[in-house]
This record gives sequence, C-alpha cells and structure tokens, in this order.
Amino acid sequence: MCIKSRSRVFCALLIAVIFVAFVAVPVVVSVSGRDAKTIVIDAGHGGMDSGVTSASGVKESDIVLLIAKTLGEYLEGGGFKVVLTRKNNSALVGGRFIKKTDMQKRVDIIKKAQPHLVVSLHLNSFSDRDRRGVQVFFGNDLSREFALLAQRVLNEGFNAIDAGRNFSILKADKYILNESPCPAVIIECGFLSNAEDEKNLTEDSYRHRLAEGIYKSILLWSFGEGA
Ligand SMILES: [Zn+2]
Repeated sequence: MCIKSRSRVFCALLIAVIFVAFVAVPVVVSVSGRDAKTIVIDAGHGGMDSGVTSASGVKESDIVLLIAKTLGEYLEGGGFKVVLTRKNNSALVGGRFIKKTDMQKRVDIIKKAQPHLVVSLHLNSFSDRDRRGVQVFFGNDLSREFALLAQRVLNEGFNAIDAGRNFSILKADKYILNESPCPAVIIECGFLSNAEDEKNLTEDSYRHRLAEGIYKSILLWSFGEGA
C-alpha cells in the first residue's frame, strides 16, 4: 500500500518513470514474476443496448468493446490475468433484454473471477457539446486509491492536453461498483456528444493510446499494492 513512507517513495519513483516514458515512448513493463493479478474488464452495454450514440451513429457499445480488447492485450502482455465480461457485441443474456439481468450477469462473472480490480468502460454524453475528457467514477473507499491514480494518469495523458482541464474522481451509486468484492471503477472514456472526442474514439491509434494509459494506471496501482 502507498500509505507507508517507503512505499510512497517507491510509488513516486514509479509514477515519475512511467509518466516520463508515457510521454516519450511506449513502455513495456511486465509484472511477470510477481503474483499475477486478475483484472476484470467490463465493456459496458452490448446487444440491443448500445448505450449512448453520437449524432453520426457511433455507438458506445462498439467503441468500449474495442478499448476493452486492447486493454486486455496490454494487461496480458504485462503478465496480468484478464477476464472480459463480453468479447463481442452480443448481449450477455439471451432473449428479451432486461438491464437488471444484464448487470446481474456482469456481477456474476466478476464474483466468479475473484479479481483484484474491476474496470468498467463506458462513454459519456452531455447537453453541453463542448464538454470532453476522460473521467473516473468509484463507489466506495476500497476503490478510491485506484480511482485517484487512474484519474491522475488520464489527466496527464489526455484531459490536460485535449480538454484543457483536469477532472476529479466522482463517487457514483452504481450496481457494478457496489457489488464488486474488490476495487472497482467506471471509466467514462470520452463524450460522444463532443465532435473531437467522437473523432478520436473512432481512431484506432487514439483507442490504443487510451488503453495504454489505463494499463499504465493499473500497472502503477499493482506495484503500489505489492510494495
Ligand atoms: Zn454506458
């Protein structure tokens, strides 16, 4: 944990190294040799439930699935065990779509996986079309440390540059956050109501950069947990 002073120094050094590398060149850092942590990546929505849709028809469910798969590749490359709540655009539950049943299925997958961390990926939409950026939501104190770390990495790598502002983490009363038996966050990866965010999110290179940013925050958290 980062609460011990020695661990704080270790965490600070790691953050400094990875922040520098994040800006300069892609980093390949592996946690192989440590106890492999299991990460559940939840791509929000799917099937008939496409989530929010942009004016030009870009669907949240499609974009977050692509980010989830790329994040999974980064994590597996770094030695983590990865469980995706969905691997394609089908609904998690067959038959008539019922949101409550869909969410229960996701929580069932999480509880079965017994993960160390849950990252649920979504996209935002807002009436003010100038609003853009990446924001992290958490549900309880167990999740606050990772939420803060992820938001800091995403502020550095995206919000300060693209949106010209930093976001703070927000507490949210969401079923998946409340029911997860480990730290869990929802990352709203951008606003489909904003033209620049929408354009970026439809580009493979940007989604990779975003997945890499989330991966790096997980990596930093992982080192902090074990230090
Ligand atoms: Zn959503």
